[in-house]
Amino acid sequence: MAQLIADRRDVDFVLFEQIKRVEHESFDEFNKKTIDLIVSEARNLAIKEILPTFKDGDEKGCVLENGKVTVPESFQRAWKLFREGEWLAMCDDPEVGGQGMPRLVGCAALEYMIGANSAFMLYYGMTHGAAKLVEAFGTEDQKKRYMKKMFAGDWGGTMLLTEPEAGSDVGALTTSAVRNADGTYSIKGSKIFISAGEHDLCDNIIHPVLARIEGAPAGTRGISLFLVPKYHVNDDGSLGEFNHVVCTGLEHKMGIHGNSTASLSLGEKGDCIGTLLGEENKGMPEMFRMMNEARAFVGMQGFAVASASYMYALDYARNRVQGRHLLAGKNPEAEDVTIIQHPDVKRQLLNMKVYTEGMRSLIYYYGNCSDIVHTTDDAKLKADTSALIEVLTPIVKGYVTDKALEVCSHGVQIYGGYGYICEYPVEQLMRDCRIFMIYEGTNGIQAMDLLGRKLSMNKGESFNYFLDQMKKTIEDAKKIDGIQGLVEKVTHAVSRLEALAKDIGQRSRSEKVLNAYAFAHPFLEVTGDVTFAWMHLWRASIAAPKLAEKAGSLEKDAVRNAVQKNKEAAFYAGQIESAKFFIHTLLPSAYGKMDAILEGDTSVEDILEVSFGSK
Ligand SMILES: Cc1cc2nc3c(=O)[nH]c(=O)nc-3n(C[C@H](O)[C@H](O)[C@H](O)COP(=O)(O)OP(=O)(O)OC[C@H]3O[C@@H](n4cnc5c(N)ncnc54)[C@H](O)[C@@H]3O)c2cc1C
Repeated sequence: MAQLIADRRDVDFVLFEQIKRVEHESFDEFNKKTIDLIVSEARNLAIKEILPTFKDGDEKGCVLENGKVTVPESFQRAWKLFREGEWLAMCDDPEVGGQGMPRLVGCAALEYMIGANSAFMLYYGMTHGAAKLVEAFGTEDQKKRYMKKMFAGDWGGTMLLTEPEAGSDVGALTTSAVRNADGTYSIKGSKIFISAGEHDLCDNIIHPVLARIEGAPAGTRGISLFLVPKYHVNDDGSLGEFNHVVCTGLEHKMGIHGNSTASLSLGEKGDCIGTLLGEENKGMPEMFRMMNEARAFVGMQGFAVASASYMYALDYARNRVQGRHLLAGKNPEAEDVTIIQHPDVKRQLLNMKVYTEGMRSLIYYYGNCSDIVHTTDDAKLKADTSALIEVLTPIVKGYVTDKALEVCSHGVQIYGGYGYICEYPVEQLMRDCRIFMIYEGTNGIQAMDLLGRKLSMNKGESFNYFLDQMKKTIEDAKKIDGIQGLVEKVTHAVSRLEALAKDIGQRSRSEKVLNAYAFAHPFLEVTGDVTFAWMHLWRASIAAPKLAEKAGSLEKDAVRNAVQKNKEAAFYAGQIESAKFFIHTLLPSAYGKMDAILEGDTSVEDILEVSFGSK
């Protein structure tokens, strides 16, 4: 079985031909040669060290014994090498121990590593997210005590939001914080479903915890953020006493078995002390400031797992021999062919290809937007791009992870019965993938975020800026020979999305609000569809001139001839086929959904009393 995880040629296409890294002095050392080297190193680590933990982690899972959690043994070596390679803070400031790499390049490294084992890489994701919180809101003392150890991966990190009665509605949480005379807080409560909540990969775990200070207002306005270490940290940096964060259980779950999903009890059997991170009662906005990164990470998880499933399915379809070619008719002499010869298998593979490519372009683009925000001195560009990131976040998290599951399902289908059998990786990838639609704000919540917050942000200007980026690509593509049919269709799609956004946006602020929200998810879906059409048109507009140059022209015979002799010509021709398939065959289904959203049928509003019974 080929161990590919991601299509390196396509990774390079997006890195060097489509998105291209931001020009800035802090990135000067990241020239093409260095980036090549980084991606190759990440790929090596992923294939040689992380991939071997994939099945092992799934089969062994994490074990809780006497309050201690052990991860699958194979994770220890992979984590050590990941840490030693200084991957954890690859894109962070050198001042905090990071490598200062462009986030665009970080996307490529992460794609390989997460595609190799998403459960393993969730220890990274949680630790990095928590370290960023300390970096953004920590006092000098908190930073000195915790941050570098976290960015180095010596200590782990988590996010403690969820409680049994406070899931999507974080404001319902009951964990309490009582101010002590020395300025610290005594924390008491129970948290559930905490990723990487307890494990033996690190000596200490630093938990950012959401809790309510005694007397604080109800709801989200009264929530504060605290840093609660598993072990206290002495002034000289050594580990002190246990801080009474007790693991009371581990979840048995559908996928990501190698990541511990812990129930944690804080301060039940002894004083659990935390320090305030940021300001009192500002816990929610502080968390929200880090939310984009966390949600983008989940989108990246979906994408990387989908990409791995595609690569496995492609390899399998090239080798599995079954059935005769359609053109062989009833000829008994005809030999069986590999399944990749069958139109229905090709269709599914192309489906996997176009979604994976769309995801890669969108996620790297998002990473590059972050690079712009972090490097530009142009205040307007910074503000516009920050707003663009806000608009893109629910698409990156919600649309990408929805589609990732579909891609993984095709992966299983292409393997046939073998796809359903645990022996083959596509089965595990599909199980692992399912959680990405749920945590870090379910995809239903993402859809509501797009409709309720992002559409009206800055009086609608941010969404318009997003549409403007699409229109710019269309204008550029108009100058390219051979793709005008695609330009026309994407122009139509963007104008339909623009009109739809106005309509549903107005409805969401009127007495028809319930009707609008009944269509929030379909609206996220069609916004994602048009976004991917944009990405594919962009890809085709780069590929067409390069293909014409290699083939002499874009005539069918010339292209066919060139493709047989020249791998690069084949790659660019593949880009144009992807764009054609997405824009001609998949995108039109968005129009049916758009019509339905505009029509605003009221079944969803009416069904409760009629059939479901209201409680
Ligand atoms: C494996 C795993 C790892 C996790 N890791 C973490 C972690 O590290 N830290 C952490 O704090 N949490 C974590 N979670 C918790 C996760 O974020 C929550 O499960 C998720 O936010 C949903 O909350 P809930 O399970 O209570 O579902 P509910 O909030 O009860 O939601 C149930 C359903 O109702 C929908 N719904 C709820 N409210 C609304 C609304 N207002 N409008 C529309 N639809 C709504 C939801 O979309 C969902 O479909 C993890 C969960 C799992 C399973």
